[in-house]
Amino acid sequence: MAKNKITTQSQDFSQWYLDVIKEADLAEYSKVKGCMIIKPYGYRIWELIQREMDDRIKAAGVQNCYFPLFIPESFINREKEHVKGFAPECAIVTHGGGKKLAENLYVRPTSETIMYDTFSEWGQSYRDLPLLINQWANIVRWEMRTRPFLRTTEFLWQEGHTAHATLEEADIEAARALKMYNDFDKNFLALPVLTGKKSRKETFAGALYTLATEALAKDGKAIQAGTSHNLGQGFAKSFNIQYQDEKGELQYVWQTSWGVSTRLIGTIIVVHGDDHGLVLPPKVAPYQIVIIPIYKTDQEKDKVLEFVENMKDSFDKNLRVHVDNRENLSPGFKFNEWEVKGAPIRIEVGPKDLEKDQVVLFRRDTLEKMSIESGNMKKEVDKLLSEIQENIYKKALEFQKENTFSVNDYNEFKNLISEKSGFYKAYFCCDAKVEEKIQDETKATIRVILDEDVKGKRCFYCGGEATQEVVFAKAY
Ligand SMILES: [Zn+2]
Repeated sequence: MAKNKITTQSQDFSQWYLDVIKEADLAEYSKVKGCMIIKPYGYRIWELIQREMDDRIKAAGVQNCYFPLFIPESFINREKEHVKGFAPECAIVTHGGGKKLAENLYVRPTSETIMYDTFSEWGQSYRDLPLLINQWANIVRWEMRTRPFLRTTEFLWQEGHTAHATLEEADIEAARALKMYNDFDKNFLALPVLTGKKSRKETFAGALYTLATEALAKDGKAIQAGTSHNLGQGFAKSFNIQYQDEKGELQYVWQTSWGVSTRLIGTIIVVHGDDHGLVLPPKVAPYQIVIIPIYKTDQEKDKVLEFVENMKDSFDKNLRVHVDNRENLSPGFKFNEWEVKGAPIRIEVGPKDLEKDQVVLFRRDTLEKMSIESGNMKKEVDKLLSEIQENIYKKALEFQKENTFSVNDYNEFKNLISEKSGFYKAYFCCDAKVEEKIQDETKATIRVILDEDVKGKRCFYCGGEATQEVVFAKAY
């Protein structure tokens, strides 16, 4: 059996994460600092995410489009809050074609400004609303400390941008996008997430409010998986996006924007992975079934390979099945490799199995081996794949529950979180300054506001009347 080169999670979680990415062949750092090369196996995961998410976005009536990578400096400067939030981490193009540009161009850190300058020319009448647009693109934010998939200088994402006639419609759209992400996380990526509003401190620069999905990594840190913003009318006023209402009067639109990125791949790794490597929910696995033929002689080889090909053909055509028939590599090496790569089901077929008309099946989520009669394969595999998908979700949910705590007192919280990371629920009333102080002292921030109807509860920090129930955690 090939030796496992992966650091254990308990030894060093950060190193474990990097080892998994390397050994599962998902990505590597490029020669450009902070930028990653997503390798075919990792990119296939992104394609599966993209395909499913794109279907869901289109089902909501949102159309895809594409805007330029470059944004004129004057656009970025037009929305005050936005420029404050993003300017420090922007890359700026000053020269083109060998000459200094008349106006600097920002490499997009997000596309609100370039899109909304154009939106001001699109929506002329209430009949043109709502305007529902999505873009799949790359984004650049000059990060100082990077980690593949979780935080990189360049990353891939989708960004939805919508414009509506009323605040209520924008509220509904922001909530719809959050629900879409929540459902996608749960049913496609097997990720249990908390959802809710962000605190003022954590709100997107220029937004009325931000909604988010937050997952819990196996090291007890929170990871923001998706966001949805109600932008109010701030951008509409800065970019003059107006429409004529039914009475013929000019009104500013209400807007939303929402996105998920290649960070979802990092989230899958840190939520589902174990000491053996990646654990992929079947729906997002490049190969759901990997078949490994085992033989010694040429005669055995012919028989086994023929059997394996027939088996592959018998499976449902929608399943992603791979036969690993590479020569000169031992079955043990292949077993280990596909374990590290998180393939949900591995099937081993050798000459003895053929005689007994059975195969050996290994499931990655539980590391169990079982013998299955060849005749029952198709049925067993279909059943098992949905069972694995559900089990991976269930395990992650259990972990989340076991690592969610309630605290009533700040000092108690400070002690607990220094010992054990996790989601900490608390009643709260204080402002962003206190939140910053708490972050300085504990490294924890408010991840989501769970509830804003909390009559009769006391703030865990100051003892005043609580206005909300929040979740604190250290975050990626
Ligand atoms: Zn308070």
